[in-house]
Amino acid sequence: LGRHKDDERPTHFDYNGVRFGQDTLNIFAGLCAVDVQEHVEAMMKALRDNGQVCTRMGAYKPRTSPYAFQGHGKACLPWVFELAGKYGIKVIAMEITHESHLDEIRAALHQAGNPTGVMLQIGTRNTQNFELLKIVGRQQELPVLFKRGFGITLDESLNAAEYLASEGNRKVVFGLRGMKTNMGDPHRNFVDFAHVPVVKRLTRMPVCIDPSHSVGARSRAPDGLLDIFHVVAQGVVAGANMILVDFHPAPKKALVDGPQALLMEELPHFIEDVQLARETY
Ligand code: PEP
Repeated sequence: LGRHKDDERPTHFDYNGVRFGQDTLNIFAGLCAVDVQEHVEAMMKALRDNGQVCTRMGAYKPRTSPYAFQGHGKACLPWVFELAGKYGIKVIAMEITHESHLDEIRAALHQAGNPTGVMLQIGTRNTQNFELLKIVGRQQELPVLFKRGFGITLDESLNAAEYLASEGNRKVVFGLRGMKTNMGDPHRNFVDFAHVPVVKRLTRMPVCIDPSHSVGARSRAPDGLLDIFHVVAQGVVAGANMILVDFHPAPKKALVDGPQALLMEELPHFIEDVQLARETY
């Protein structure tokens, strides 16, 4: 995945009719965690109505507390995939935390007649789970959104991403999602979108930003301005190629990370803002 001097290998890949490259920009707005069909359908309908073909939907959720909702797992896959097909969604970003999840996703996609595609997400807690990375790397059918580790160096994260490529899967997008610091405020994580151009110069991977997990709240400031909109603009101006962002039709009812979810009615403004920022890149 690394870029070498005189490297002429491509900096893009195509999957299920969608191009992922260092010169493209795809928005993956969606639910952090799949909850009920009504919410998933409302999200997918809003995406279709706003010309979007990608989304995020978490079925397997790695949670800090073992008592927190862990995701519906494979039980929700058939109806999530069916709804995706109904609303013309071509790629769903979905985290996996165990090799069995990969088998479950592939089986459910196959059983449903492949109505949509899946981009496997490796979350920040598994950045250095090398055995999982080798397994995900060995299959070359599904692309991977690989999140940087929140407490390791960039170099360590880039090396970890190579585990995917060294096993054969080069359809990898590198995700920035903020870094842990001991400073706390103002955001949940230290927003690291200044690293977008760095990763693009060092590697051939398209780079994703995750404003939701970086900022951790719709708004921190008393003026109610949306911090997430601001950091997205910064990331897009820096050259981001993908945006993974949490939305929810009823954030108070969300089972995971409701406070950071943007509202459905903000989706058209969000897309417009991204387009404006893109024009200045
Ligand atoms: C997520 O995107 O749902 C997630 C848990 O992200 P991260 O691994 O970056 O915390």
